[in-house]
Amino acid sequence: MKSSEKQNLSSPLFRDSLPDALLSWYDAHARVLPWRETPTPYRVWVSEIMLQQTRVEAVKPYFERFLSALPTVSALAEADSGLLLKLWEGLGYYNRARNLQKAAAVVKEQYAGRLPASFEALRALPGIGSYTAGAIASIAFGIPVPAVDGNVLRVASRLLDSREDIKNPAFKQTVEDGLRQILPKRVGDFNQALMELGATVCLPSGQPRCGECPLSGLCAGFAAGTAPDLPVKSAAKARRIEERTVFLLIFDGRTALRKRPESGLLASMWEFPNTEGNLPPEEAAALIAEWGMPPEALTPLKEAKHIFTHVEWRMTGYAAFVPSPSPDFVWADAAGLSDRFALPSAFRFYFSEAKRLLGA
Ligand code: SF4
Repeated sequence: MKSSEKQNLSSPLFRDSLPDALLSWYDAHARVLPWRETPTPYRVWVSEIMLQQTRVEAVKPYFERFLSALPTVSALAEADSGLLLKLWEGLGYYNRARNLQKAAAVVKEQYAGRLPASFEALRALPGIGSYTAGAIASIAFGIPVPAVDGNVLRVASRLLDSREDIKNPAFKQTVEDGLRQILPKRVGDFNQALMELGATVCLPSGQPRCGECPLSGLCAGFAAGTAPDLPVKSAAKARRIEERTVFLLIFDGRTALRKRPESGLLASMWEFPNTEGNLPPEEAAALIAEWGMPPEALTPLKEAKHIFTHVEWRMTGYAAFVPSPSPDFVWADAAGLSDRFALPSAFRFYFSEAKRLLGA
């Protein structure tokens, strides 16, 4: 096609050729993924929530473990929150797990434990946005609705040689409207194929593999040579840097843990006691004394950092042997630390240190 021809996704060029070309490619190249075997609504839902902001390879073991521990919507709705967070431990973005359980409770109450076969009803459940509702509706129920995620927006931006910011909701709406008009009968496969193309061929960061792409003959960005520079994205807001000091308080083969508040970052997760700021040793010792346990020995630990979506923690730490266990904390031995308490991956470095200090 000529690069000067401006198209939209519902134009005859795409409508007549894109679905068949994409589905033929998908039939030959689709990755074998655990959630694609037996795509029940529950399995599709859990996989889609896990895949938000997490790589496919990282999700696979979590998906299997989660499904065998909580095989039904009812099991998820009734699960102990500690077990749920333990199953999610390491995946991050724990609100996803909490919303999954909230939504499961609604599905159990209002839909007798079966996810509703309606885009609108799915969209109304906690934690389900238009993309996830579209994915479940189309893949599990065959409902003709698009499922537009970041991969699809990137592919669309390049196919159309568009200069619109893909974070702009109006662009997403245009893509959804265009796709809705060219959806083939195999809508679930079509939606998965578009995402798959974005994930494996039309790669981000200037790396599209146009030579392997089934849509290269239709792609305005390829024809114009602009594809590697697309999509246009507005600059992300800079992350806030937060300094923290983490304490591994050790008493009699156990370490102190406490629960985070019920709302906000890492809500209700277990954590090592910590405080804002990078405290020098004398201030660290004074704080532990304030907690009722003047430390017998204080050893500085290495620095660690963890990046959340909007904030970055830069952590220093201390190991301290204390003379008595304050009842304000829960005291976990090495086995409990591994099996009973869900600690967010933000504390991964200090978790390993704690296990070492506890002799595990
Ligand atoms: Fe993406 Fe290149 Fe395919 Fe266009 S031809 S959709 S830029 S991989």
